[in-house]
Amino acid sequence: MIGNMFSIKSCANPDCRNYACTMADVCFDHMENQDEYLRKIKDFFASNKKISNIVLSGVVLSDIDLRSREFYGCQFYSCQFTKVDFRNTVFKLVFLDFSRFLECDFSTSNLNDSSFACTHIESSTFKDSEIKRCNFNGMTSVDSVFNDSDLYLSTFIATNQTRCDFVDCNLKRTSFARAKLDTVSFQYSNIEEAYFEGEQ
Ligand SMILES: [Zn+2]
Repeated sequence: MIGNMFSIKSCANPDCRNYACTMADVCFDHMENQDEYLRKIKDFFASNKKISNIVLSGVVLSDIDLRSREFYGCQFYSCQFTKVDFRNTVFKLVFLDFSRFLECDFSTSNLNDSSFACTHIESSTFKDSEIKRCNFNGMTSVDSVFNDSDLYLSTFIATNQTRCDFVDCNLKRTSFARAKLDTVSFQYSNIEEAYFEGEQ
């Protein structure tokens, strides 16, 4: 196991307010050798199925296969994920706040008690997944799909969503309060059990 949950270090650069990454003293922006760090972290992901208590701050990851990985108690703060394959993953208490996801695939995954607050999600899919008690508040999403998923008790408060689909989802106690929804489909979903108050 690397690091300990809830003992998150700050970046060693005195002018920086980001977290330090696991296996480093600084955030990704302040690393002298980002390529070497990426190699290290990719090796770590490749050789571990269960990944717990790691912190990535500002890390830029693309074209990696994270299928069937299980993430527990991780902080992936303000990271960028491009073409990352998250199919069949498990997330429990994973905080991805302020991260960006482009062309990522979370199909048939199991996301619980995790936070995607203030993320940007584009051309990505969360199809056929269990997404329970997750926080997507403040998310901006474009051309993304949550179809055939169970979104029980998840919140999409004050999100800004364009061309996104929530077709045939369980929306029991799912909140879209104050969401700005442009061309968003809820066909075949139980919208009467969701909260939409204050929708703009
Ligand atoms: Zn820093």
